[in-house]
Amino acid sequence: MRIAVIANKAPKSIKVAAELREKLAEASFELTLDQPNVVITVGGDGTLLNAFHSYVNELDKIRFIGVHTGHLGFYTDWRDYELDYLVESLKKDNSQSVSYPLLNITLIYEDDTKNKTFLALNEVTVKNLNRTMVAEVLIKDELFEKFRGDGLSVSTPTGSTAYSKSLGGAVIHPRVNAMQLNEVASINNRVYRSLGSPMIIAKDEWITLELDRGESYQVHIDHLVTTEENLVSIKVELAEQRIQFASYRHTHFWRRVNDAFIGELRGQE
Ligand code: NAP
Repeated sequence: MRIAVIANKAPKSIKVAAELREKLAEASFELTLDQPNVVITVGGDGTLLNAFHSYVNELDKIRFIGVHTGHLGFYTDWRDYELDYLVESLKKDNSQSVSYPLLNITLIYEDDTKNKTFLALNEVTVKNLNRTMVAEVLIKDELFEKFRGDGLSVSTPTGSTAYSKSLGGAVIHPRVNAMQLNEVASINNRVYRSLGSPMIIAKDEWITLELDRGESYQVHIDHLVTTEENLVSIKVELAEQRIQFASYRHTHFWRRVNDAFIGELRGQE
């Protein structure tokens, strides 16, 4: 098994990653950043997002594992004091995994030879940099509404606990194959009207955001941000590819949600 260990810059993560590498080497695992089968991140959800994008072209060959060194995360369910247990689990590995949906995003430009596609693990968000964003929202190529406001965001089920939640979106169980469309500060009055609530879009549907021409847009794909000129539309659908996690034990999703946002069940395990 070829294992990559990737840590964020926090001193604790660097220390935990060094300890983990040592234990993995003792157990005769091959440590490499080149074409790994397993990627272990040490840090937070942000560290896993980074690693996901580093290996985005090798997703079919990789299973991820997240060790958290701060608060419990959604992609990071191993704790820093469980390294021995993690190494033992890797030794007994029989390729068990759980996979979650990703978004396939196409940025469509006036010159369509410049079109680009991306995968997102959490979400894609588009905002107008200078003024109210105006966009027609089409679902399955059919006009649904004309949006005016700060922006629009489409998230995965695992992204539903990230930016989507701050926008008032629902928390979605990651086994649900769907995506969620959220508004960012929509203008709703007698003149302008959009739905005003999050929408859950089925896996065989796609969303197209037809943007006003001649504007500058900021496009966020997870933690990656770009400024886009000459953008005409953005198409978002569930991707064929999925992210795979090595699953050596079951983590109860709703307990994790409670732990992250409420905390009342802590100590009752
Ligand atoms: P960041 O500082 O790396 O992340 C912001 C926070 O979001 C961190 O606390 C991070 O957890 C947490 N997070 C990331 N993915 C999550 C998930 N799936 N479920 C629950 N929490 C999650 O910010 P960034 O680099 O700009 O962007 C990375 C992601 O952060 C974005 O994809 C976006 O979803 C989220 N974000 C949220 C807001 C907001 O809620 N207003 C604003 C900006 C970004 P860790 O501390 O464990 O890394």
